[in-house]
Amino acid sequence: MNRSIIFLLLIFLGGVTTSRALPQRLVITLDGISYRDMKALQDGVNDTNGWGVVFHRRAFTADEGYFPVSRMISTFPSTSDVAWTDIFGDRPQPGYQRTYFSVAANSEVFVNGLTSTIEHERQMDWQADSNFARSMGYIYSVHTFKYEMHKLVQEFWKVGSTNPVFYVYIRSSDDAQHMDRDILSMLTILDSDLQDLRARYKAQEGHDLQILLISDHGHNHAGRGERVQIRSFLEKAGYHMAQSINGPKDVVLPTSGIEDWIEIHNAPSETEILAEQLVRLEGADVIAARLSDQTNAFLVLNSKGEKAIIRWNAAQNTFQYSAKKGDPLGYLPVIETLSRKGQLEVNGFATADDWMNETMTNHYPLALQRIVRGLTSVTLNPATILVSLDNRYVNAGWLVNDASLLESCGSTHGALDDINSLGIILSNFVPTHDTPSDRVAGLFDNFPGLRAYRSEENGAEWVSKEEQATVRIPRDPFDWDYTSLPDDGLFLRVWSPDLAWSGNSPSLEATIEKISGPSDPSAGAQSLKPTMGHEIRVTFKEQVSFPTNCPYERVYAYPRNLRLEPQANYEISGWGEGEGRNVGRFEFDFRTDSHGRPVAY
Ligand SMILES: [Zn+2]
Repeated sequence: MNRSIIFLLLIFLGGVTTSRALPQRLVITLDGISYRDMKALQDGVNDTNGWGVVFHRRAFTADEGYFPVSRMISTFPSTSDVAWTDIFGDRPQPGYQRTYFSVAANSEVFVNGLTSTIEHERQMDWQADSNFARSMGYIYSVHTFKYEMHKLVQEFWKVGSTNPVFYVYIRSSDDAQHMDRDILSMLTILDSDLQDLRARYKAQEGHDLQILLISDHGHNHAGRGERVQIRSFLEKAGYHMAQSINGPKDVVLPTSGIEDWIEIHNAPSETEILAEQLVRLEGADVIAARLSDQTNAFLVLNSKGEKAIIRWNAAQNTFQYSAKKGDPLGYLPVIETLSRKGQLEVNGFATADDWMNETMTNHYPLALQRIVRGLTSVTLNPATILVSLDNRYVNAGWLVNDASLLESCGSTHGALDDINSLGIILSNFVPTHDTPSDRVAGLFDNFPGLRAYRSEENGAEWVSKEEQATVRIPRDPFDWDYTSLPDDGLFLRVWSPDLAWSGNSPSLEATIEKISGPSDPSAGAQSLKPTMGHEIRVTFKEQVSFPTNCPYERVYAYPRNLRLEPQANYEISGWGEGEGRNVGRFEFDFRTDSHGRPVAY
C-alpha cells in the first residue's frame, strides 16, 4: 500500500476514534399529541389561513422515512402523569394528579404541580425544566414550543454521554392545545426542525438518525366546555366535600386544572349508592366504580341509566363484561365477535389480548382493562369512583376560581373515549403497531439508558416493600433489592452521588419539624406560609444491607423510638457526615397516619 494512503488512513481513523459518538436514537416524548392529528398531517390536510386562502399541510411523511403513525392507547384517566409513568413502567405515583388523596394518611395532600417534578421527567436527558418556562407555558405556548425545540437541538449536539439513546420531554405541546393553539402548525415546525437535525446528523455520521415520537394521550379540541356542577350536585345529594373520610357522606375530590374526568374518593360502603346517583350529574358520560363487596368487580354506568359489571381474573388477566341493563360501553357486539371466534370461555371471560384486538378502534378503546387498571393499579391511591365526562363539559379545580382561564380553555383530555385516549407512536426506523401504554416500553427494549437521576441528584423518600413492588420495569439496584426488606415497616431511602465517597459516616443526621396551619392552598394566601414547630433531632443508624451494593443509595430502618403526632404535616431535612463536611443534603414534606407514623404515599 502506498505510504501516503496509509498516512491518510491513520489520520482518518484517528479522527473517528477521537470524535465523540452521537446518540443513535432520539426519543421525543411529546405531551398530548392526538393520533387523529398526526394521522391527518401524515395524510395531508387542507387548511385555511387568516385571509381565507386554502393551503395544504403535510408532515412526518413516508417520503421523509416515517412509518404510518400508530395509536398509543392511554391509561384511564387519560392524563399525563399517569400515562407517562405507565409508558416508562415506573413506580406508580401516589395519585393521578399532584394533588391527591392518601388512604394511609386519610387526607388530601397538596403538592405544587408547577414546581414538582415526577420520575419520568427526571429520567429524560433533557426537558424544559425551568419553572419559568413551565409557568409561561400556559401563556406563550407557541413561543415556548419553539424555544423548547431550539434547546432540544442544542442539547442534542452538546450531549457528552456515550448513551446510544437521547431522551427528551416536550410539554408545551399539551399546554398549547389547552390554550387552543394550532397544534398542526406546531407539529409542522417540529417536523422541519427535525429534518434539519437529521440532515446535519447524516452529513456528520454517514447514516440516518433514528427518531421516535411518543405521546401520552389525545386532546379533544372540544372548545371551552361547560363547567360540571359536581360540588353542588354532591351537596344536594347529602354529601360533604371534605379532605378526609370519616363517614359515609364524606367525599374527597382532588382536582387540578381543567379536565374532562373526575376522581372521587369515598367510604367503600357508599360507593355503589353514590355511583348510581352520579348518572344524573349533568355532563357525566361513563361512571366506573370499584365494588366493595366483591373482589375485582367493577360497576359501569352511563348517563342513560345503562349498567354493566366488569369482572377481572387477576391471576389469568382475563376480563368479563356482563351487561345488566342496556350496554353502557357498547361492547355487546364485541362479545358476539369474541364468541364467534371461539375466544370466549364458557364463563364469559376472554383474555386481555383478545379484548384489546377487538376494541382498539372502539369508541371506548380497551375499556375493560383501562377501567380495571384505573381503579386498582395506575396510581398508589386509586379512586373509588372515576367519572368520564361528555366532551362538552369540563371539571375545574379551585385554581380556576374566575372565568378567565375557562374562557381560554380550548381543549382538554382525561376521559375514556377515543379522542381523549389515543396518543401516538411514530418512528422512522421500525414499523410500529397500535399499543396500550403499559406495552409501549416492550416495543423498544424497555427504554434502555434512561437517565439514572438518583446517581446525579440528592433526594430521599419514605418507602415500603409493598410500594416498591409496584415498579413494573426495574432500573435502579433497589428495584430488585427491595424484595429482601421485611413485609411491614417503613424505610428512609436516600440517594446522592456524594454518598459514594469514602470516609463518610454510615449514619445519617436529620431534623424533623412539624408544619402547622392548613396545608390546603385553596384556603387562602395566609396558609401558604406554614409555621414551623420545634425541631426534633434524629440519627438514622440502622442501615439495611443488600446483596448488591449501590454506591449512591442508602436505605435506613425507621427509628423505633421516634414518635410523631398523628395526622400532622412534617418536614424532614437530613444529611450525611463526610470528612469535615455535610454531604447528600435532602429535604421533603410528609404526613403522618393516625398512629403518628410517616406515610410513604
Ligand atoms: Zn399529557
